[in-house]
Amino acid sequence: MTSKVDKRWQDLFTAAMSEVAEWRGQHKKASFTEIEAALDKQLSGVRAQLLKDLVESSPRADLRGQPKEERPRCPECGEPLVANGQHTRKVMTTYEQQVELRRSYGRCPACGCGFFPSG
Ligand SMILES: [Zn+2]
Repeated sequence: MTSKVDKRWQDLFTAAMSEVAEWRGQHKKASFTEIEAALDKQLSGVRAQLLKDLVESSPRADLRGQPKEERPRCPECGEPLVANGQHTRKVMTTYEQQVELRRSYGRCPACGCGFFPSG
C-alpha cells in the first residue's frame, strides 16, 4: 500500500465529510433517520472506492507476469491459468454502489475453460 493511495482515501473521506457538514447546515431540523441516510450516502461512495482499491491490489487482479506456480489453478484439470486480457468486471455492493474492477480474465491453457479468479 503506497502513501499515495492513503492520501487519495483521505481526500475522498474529507470531501465526503464536508458534503455531510454542508448538508447538515442546510437541514438544521433533519431527523435522526434523515441524517443517517445523508451520512450513509456519502460514506457509501468512499466505501465503494476503497473496496475497489483494496480488491484491485490483490495479485489475482493481474495474472500477467505472475509465476506459474503462484497463479490460480483450473478447477477442472489443475493447470495454472493464463491471463486472457484485462477486463472490467462490474459488481454491485451495498447502498447500491456499483464497483468496476479491473481484473485479469483467467483461461486454462489445457481445457480452455475461463473465469475471473476469486480473491
Ligand atoms: Zn483446465
